[in-house]
Amino acid sequence: MNNLSRRTVLKSAAAMAAFGLAAPVVLQHAAQAETPLEPTVGHYTYKVGDIEVTAIYDGIWKKPHDPAFIKDVSVDETKAALAKAGLTTDFMPIPLTVIVLKIGGKLIMVDAGSGVGQWQANATNLPKNMAAAGIDHTKIDTLLISHFHPDHVWGLMEKGTNAATFPNAELIVNSKEYHFWTDAGAVDRLPEGRRAAGKRIADVFPTWNNWKLVEPGSEVAPGIQILDAYGHTPGHSVFVVNSGKNQLMVSNDTMYVPGILAPHPEWQGAYDQDGPMAITTRRRIIDRVIADKMQICGAHFPFPGSGTFTKDGNAYGFAPTIQS
Ligand SMILES: [Zn+2]
Repeated sequence: MNNLSRRTVLKSAAAMAAFGLAAPVVLQHAAQAETPLEPTVGHYTYKVGDIEVTAIYDGIWKKPHDPAFIKDVSVDETKAALAKAGLTTDFMPIPLTVIVLKIGGKLIMVDAGSGVGQWQANATNLPKNMAAAGIDHTKIDTLLISHFHPDHVWGLMEKGTNAATFPNAELIVNSKEYHFWTDAGAVDRLPEGRRAAGKRIADVFPTWNNWKLVEPGSEVAPGIQILDAYGHTPGHSVFVVNSGKNQLMVSNDTMYVPGILAPHPEWQGAYDQDGPMAITTRRRIIDRVIADKMQICGAHFPFPGSGTFTKDGNAYGFAPTIQS
């Protein structure tokens, strides 16, 4: 380890202590540590103040390299960014982690995962890992939904029948996101590649009566506020979890693969519906996390889905939390 990396680790350790992260977590700088591709144990619990957060691993999309993944950026450039972040260059690694919060005896889940056999072959582990974490999915009181992309909502439906997986939970979503996908004519307004998914959403979601549509800025559960983070989708939202002096930014897809987007926050991803808006949002959310010394987690961060951002000129540094 050279002096620079030693300083980085020490800085991360201090940040970890400041955030009150659980002891077994060892933060290391991604450039020096081989970030494990998949966890050996698919659930991990940490604290935010008095709130217990359990990260549950759904799986990973080993996305074949595609020059369209980042606008105007070549595959060689994305591979170089992956290598620099200590990630595999064989494919674009897009892991998926869901969190469940225990607040005052209530179970609050953020997003529903990708469902079994409905998204990627290597992302089918959520039910198994949730059970292993001792969480009964029928006891989830509230589901906070960030946006309606398949990897975040297919877990709400059974494969084939579209039966509700969480019929008794309250489903909370930004009204803007709900209306974008379900209003009359919504499917026709989608880009071609999104229409099949959009039709499933428009056909099924409005038949359920457990939705609660909310506006950004409102409190969606005790100590949890929903904020607009538009760009990735028209109603993409993040959640700020507060407990005492501690705060967790549940950033969802604001910074989906932080290994490559932290050093290149200006990169426009193919899955960002409005690229320039997504970039402005990304900077606003990450700047706030750094300024307010918040903990942060993200749906596609390396498991357990959290880490630490630092300012690095006009970009950011990212140190993933590594499960020990
Ligand atoms: Zn996603």
